[in-house]
Amino acid sequence: MSTINSQIINLIENGNRYANSLTEYSRRKTISVNIGDVPMGSDFPIRVQSMTTIDTMDTMGSVEQTIRMIESGCDYVRITAPSVKEAQNLEIIRKELRVRGYNVPLVADIHFTPNAAELAARLIEKVRINPGNYADKKRFENIEYTESSYQDELDRIRSKFLPLVNICKQYGTAMRIGTNHGSLSDRILSRYGDTPLGMVESALEFLRICEDEKYYNIVLSMKASNTQVMVQAYRLLCKKLVEEGLKPYPLHLGVTEAGEGEDGRIKSAVGIGTLLEDGLGDTVRVSLTEDPEFEAPVARALIDRYSTRKEGSNPIPSFDGLNSFFDVRQASNKPQTSNIEPQPSKNDSPINPFQYAKRRTHEVANFGGHNVPRVIADYSQITVIEHDELKPIGHYYLPLPDKWTMNDLGADYIYTGRNPAQYMLPMGLKEILDFDVWERVEDQINKYPLMEIEQYLSHPQKHGLLNFVQVRLSELTVELLKQLSQDKQIVLFIQTDNPHAMPELRRLFFELIEKQITVPVVLVRKYPALPPSDFQLFSATDCGGLLIDGFGDGILLKLPDLAEKTKLLILSKSFNSTAFGILQAARTRMSKTEYISCPSCGRTLFDLQETTAMIRKRTEHLKGVKIGIMGCIVNGPGEMADADYGYVGVGKDKIALYRGQNVIKKSVHSDNAVNELIEIIKEDGIWFEPTDS
Ligand code: SF4
Repeated sequence: MSTINSQIINLIENGNRYANSLTEYSRRKTISVNIGDVPMGSDFPIRVQSMTTIDTMDTMGSVEQTIRMIESGCDYVRITAPSVKEAQNLEIIRKELRVRGYNVPLVADIHFTPNAAELAARLIEKVRINPGNYADKKRFENIEYTESSYQDELDRIRSKFLPLVNICKQYGTAMRIGTNHGSLSDRILSRYGDTPLGMVESALEFLRICEDEKYYNIVLSMKASNTQVMVQAYRLLCKKLVEEGLKPYPLHLGVTEAGEGEDGRIKSAVGIGTLLEDGLGDTVRVSLTEDPEFEAPVARALIDRYSTRKEGSNPIPSFDGLNSFFDVRQASNKPQTSNIEPQPSKNDSPINPFQYAKRRTHEVANFGGHNVPRVIADYSQITVIEHDELKPIGHYYLPLPDKWTMNDLGADYIYTGRNPAQYMLPMGLKEILDFDVWERVEDQINKYPLMEIEQYLSHPQKHGLLNFVQVRLSELTVELLKQLSQDKQIVLFIQTDNPHAMPELRRLFFELIEKQITVPVVLVRKYPALPPSDFQLFSATDCGGLLIDGFGDGILLKLPDLAEKTKLLILSKSFNSTAFGILQAARTRMSKTEYISCPSCGRTLFDLQETTAMIRKRTEHLKGVKIGIMGCIVNGPGEMADADYGYVGVGKDKIALYRGQNVIKKSVHSDNAVNELIEIIKEDGIWFEPTDS
């Protein structure tokens, strides 16, 4: 591992640039890749794609499903081709689609089988290979390679891969070299470990062969179920392509096994949205454990957010480290306004963007330091009168024992603004009030003030433990920064109205880091009049993109301005759940069981949606436990690399159960498999019976 660490340190020493700009929206420039009639790359709109779930040998079923996917917004459709017979059938599926007037480019999904890839490359527009298992059976062995035995392996890969490259060149077929975190080869694992660097090297081994052969019709992907790993790997890939003088290939973005429903959407947005914010990504596939026609609208919503975000339209001061914008502005007495002329971006992040590290903060009450990020619920438009009004944010009053209880999604703080709660709140829920209101309340000890900067700088009388100050990037001054660097009773609420929100908030963090200010920070976002689905995706992108880089000690998602209390209470429940979902998806606070369920494909051996629902029903109280639910043994075990337990299809009605990466039961009948899974969890001593709340 020390070799791997030193390789990462070397990467940083060589600069940590991975995007055109960290402050201005700017799409990464790529070459164009021809895929049938729908080219891909930075000269074209970001494309949407998905994958069929039906058996590839079911020709009419595949055609019908493909048409539903096209109508839901897919620009490309991927179909699994596990063997030559499925690859052959792609031609028939394609012909039938053309007869019905659909020219959508088809992509063959290949694992292990060069023969299937070589046939598909002659028949359809694109093939996807996984460099972790192309012509490579995984043996799960830690093999010590010498330089020469490693080179022998690369030579072996070259000889197996060259025929496909030549066919693609000859037929004008495109290729995606799609690394998957869960299925890296033994060779890569032995040398680079299970790291973003290993993922990148896995693709580059194959890419170098393509470039040697002057074949460039290539798209690259770096998928993982862990959003931190996924984002780091794509960033590292962009940097390595430049450093090695390789072409800037288009990127296919995706989070694997994201799951279903709200969790799947939030997790996808955290990973994919973070990269799109920095201008990375030329096609998106959202992988949900739902019918594939539900995936494209989510991908489209993520992408469409950037269709109006033009370069230079939402200026944010660039970051050049030592000679910070704020010092320059202060010296020249420029007005403090957000209408700042864009400056040439220096682009280098003051953090290591390829490895997670939480920003160093000092502890204030239960914010910052080693605390998990806190969730603050917005009740500034809701006057808390009834006990039941706290139920939406996870706090329940039980009249008989006369006590409060909370579930795993119990908010930590409640922002009531100008409407103090009308009764004593439960112990686990603290109240934040606007400063002038707080000044007048009787109980100033158990309530905390939120101040504007003016109030903060001019009022010496504050809470003795915890005070909140709201600030925007444009309001940072030398005076304020100086005071913040000394005050150990402050937590910042940071906000922005800039549509390029995540980079503006990130720019504020850069300033704090540069000035070595360790004040904890709460991310505050408000979205007026967004449909609930967009709210989930956009807040997950904006907050997740910061959390993934270790920024943020709390999250406050403000409700839109509404008059009706009932509507506000309904929304507060979903906002609270979204806030916890974002923290979980960014891996900064685990409050739920995590299901790493595959999206299913033609290989799937059981009904994934039904099975996931059944497993969820029995285990969703096991906070923080990660359960992989995979449709097949071929890729399943690899793709759930991150899970604590696994439920994997091995045959008709047959399930293999895993603890981590180890098979515990090889073949259990599906009727009893969930019970057996629970038995394994019980053996580990982490099972407990669910309670009602
Ligand atoms: S794990 Fe198997 S069934 Fe699930 S998507 Fe991957 S290949 Fe298909």
